[in-house]
Amino acid sequence: MLHEGTVPCTACHYCVSHCPQELDIPTLLNLYNEHVYTGGGFIAPMALGALPADKRPEACIQCRSCEDVCPQQIKISEVLEDFAARLG
Ligand code: SF4
Ligand code: SF4
Repeated sequence: MLHEGTVPCTACHYCVSHCPQELDIPTLLNLYNEHVYTGGGFIAPMALGALPADKRPEACIQCRSCEDVCPQQIKISEVLEDFAARLG
C-alpha cells in the first residue's frame, strides 16, 4: 500500500528519454517518496546535494512531456515542484 503523499512510480523509465532536461525522474521520485515517508529526513537532501544543480528537482521546466508517457499518470512536474519547495 502506498503511504499517503507518495507517488506510485514503478521505475519503468519510460519518461526519462522524454525529458529535455535529462533529469533522472525515477531516482528523483524515489527520493521524493523517501522524503515524504520519513517526514523530511536527511537522506534526500544529502543525495540531491551530490547531484549537479541542473539535475535537481528545481531544474524541471514544467514542460510535462514526461507526463504524457507515464503509465502511472504521475503529475511529475508538480511533484518535482513540490520537492524543490520542501527542500527550500
Ligand atoms: S516536466 Fe520536468 S521532468 Fe517532466 S519532461 Fe519536462 S522538464 Fe523533464
Ligand atoms: S514513466 Fe512514470 S512510473 Fe515510469 S519511471 Fe517515469 S514517473 Fe516512474
